[in-house]
Amino acid sequence: MEFVNLAEPPSAYGSSRPSSLELLERHFGYKSFRPPQQEVIEHVLQGKDAVVLMPTGGGKSLCYQVPALALDGLTVVISPLIALMKDQVNALQGNGIAAAFLNSSLSYEEERTINEQLRNGELKLLYVSPERLFQQGFMDQLEDRNVCLFAVDEAHCISSWGHSFRPEYKHLNVLKKRFPQVPVVALTATADRAVRNDIGDLLGLHQPRTFVSSFDRPNLSLAVLPGQDRWKAIERIMRRHNGHSGIIYCNSRASTEKLAAKLQAIGVRAAYYHAKLDPEERGRVQDDFIQGKLHVICATIAFGMGIDKSDVRFVIHYNLPGTVEGYYQEIGRAGRDGKPAETVLFYSYADVQTHMHFAEEIEDPRYKEVVIAKLDRMKEYAQAQTCRRMILLSYFSEASGEACGNCDVCKDPPKYFDGTVLAQKAISAVVRSGQKLPLSVLVDVLKGTYSPAVSDNGWQRIKTFGAGSDTTAFAWVQFIQQFIHLGLLEVDYRDHHHLIVTSAGEAVLKGERPVGLVTPETIKERQERPKRTRQVFAEPTPESADLLAVLKDLRRTLAKEMGKPAYVVFSDASLIDMAEKKPKNIYEFRLVNGVGDYKAQQFGKQFLEAIVEWGRQ
Ligand code: ADP
Ligand code: ZN
Repeated sequence: MEFVNLAEPPSAYGSSRPSSLELLERHFGYKSFRPPQQEVIEHVLQGKDAVVLMPTGGGKSLCYQVPALALDGLTVVISPLIALMKDQVNALQGNGIAAAFLNSSLSYEEERTINEQLRNGELKLLYVSPERLFQQGFMDQLEDRNVCLFAVDEAHCISSWGHSFRPEYKHLNVLKKRFPQVPVVALTATADRAVRNDIGDLLGLHQPRTFVSSFDRPNLSLAVLPGQDRWKAIERIMRRHNGHSGIIYCNSRASTEKLAAKLQAIGVRAAYYHAKLDPEERGRVQDDFIQGKLHVICATIAFGMGIDKSDVRFVIHYNLPGTVEGYYQEIGRAGRDGKPAETVLFYSYADVQTHMHFAEEIEDPRYKEVVIAKLDRMKEYAQAQTCRRMILLSYFSEASGEACGNCDVCKDPPKYFDGTVLAQKAISAVVRSGQKLPLSVLVDVLKGTYSPAVSDNGWQRIKTFGAGSDTTAFAWVQFIQQFIHLGLLEVDYRDHHHLIVTSAGEAVLKGERPVGLVTPETIKERQERPKRTRQVFAEPTPESADLLAVLKDLRRTLAKEMGKPAYVVFSDASLIDMAEKKPKNIYEFRLVNGVGDYKAQQFGKQFLEAIVEWGRQ
């Protein structure tokens, strides 16, 4: 077989300024953008501000990395996660892009080199921690560095409604004050509507446009199991997933250790991971998991940030997470390859009490209220009798039309009755109040109760006052929660928890959409009877599994030689695509997903030879 001259990789671009698609192709080796990457990029390139919401793994980074390559000057990325910063910079350098990071983990020497590169204008992207950004004199220094774009990653940290508020993020509004001409793109994977509005307001963005990509992950099955018999259920899951990769999230370090020992005792290749492990051990566990030497990690939430492993087949929550955002981010680590993956949440009241206990100790009353409100939403999810995916999607303000068929409620549905008229009564009252009713007051209005909240605001004059007096207050609370889960109403956490009508809710009001409800009695009965799970799993059988193993070996060797993590050579997704395409020459190699010019030059020869060698056998 002949190799073409690797010094001249195939190139299809002319000499004029490359388009963003050409940049994507050339530097990252991808053939197309995912929605809404291209829209964000074009918007930012016009010098405008943006708020970007994409689920974990959706591809947020390219939304600022491609503009960084297209624009003259320096792009500054603010990120709170030191480990993630390092991975991103490694990956960029792996694609031949001049990037660096500044944070507390660097030695004096390393820091000096980077500062020099900065002064010489050699860097395209600089990642900094917020602490570092606000260090004395650093902003002044940036003023001389021709900054062309700011990207604020994990932007939900700016909002006290976010699940991981960081006080230092509050000061980021200084960016727009000091650099009014420089566009800012704020990105997050977890934000309900309240947080999303906060991001734009608190950063002081100029008429930002919000871009939302779908949060739907239809390949993840969703199930909630009672917390009583966790170990038995886990044993069953282990049998179903013999040899598959999975993560079990626990809420304490002690549980991770105990659970890992129990799993090892039944022959599962398991280990534990938490923040108290020394960094070396943590790195080892993480690498062994990524390489498939360890199958199951029992971990606290410290595990998973920035781990690029596409074939995680199950995520189990041994304990109830405190927020829907956190839960969704964690289950999102399963099934990134798009193949079926299973998620199971164990729900016990003891976990709710643990969370409440921590909440009670919070001093700031506003923050405490947030924590409790978020926990309530998580509890409602765990207790829900409507399609769980619809609940998740409506939580992220994404209207989804119908039940998913891939959650435990859909697979074993309760009986529904036609609740359209009930929904219309509630929604109409919300509309007539000017969307100024929190849930409890809406119940008063529907029941026709003259509570102080009603009298003080004159809500007794609403035409539908008392229109639901024949339904109990208890039932109304349950129904209204179902309307929220179905995405007909939304809670505005920033404005006194007032209920807002969504476009789906408007359609119900106009009689364009029927509403199925579950009676409160059914809810009680179902909670009392044991739940069944009936998931079916396809074994992941990559067409050329043994070639894939060969390619993975080669990747490991090359990464070791370079002293870099494996993903800097190629991602799992690239190797899988390579094993399927089996390129025969450098042109075909360049067509593999994730192979840009730089990587084709750097690794093409070795991988092509390995494929030829494999073909001979
Ligand atoms: P996020 O920050 O949203 O969690 P990343 O930006 O890290 O996600 O991207 C997740 C993965 O998807 C990365 O491996 C990335 O290279 C890949 N990816 C992103 N955009 C594309 C695209 N347009 N085509 C193919 N792969 C992509
Ligand atoms: Zn469902």
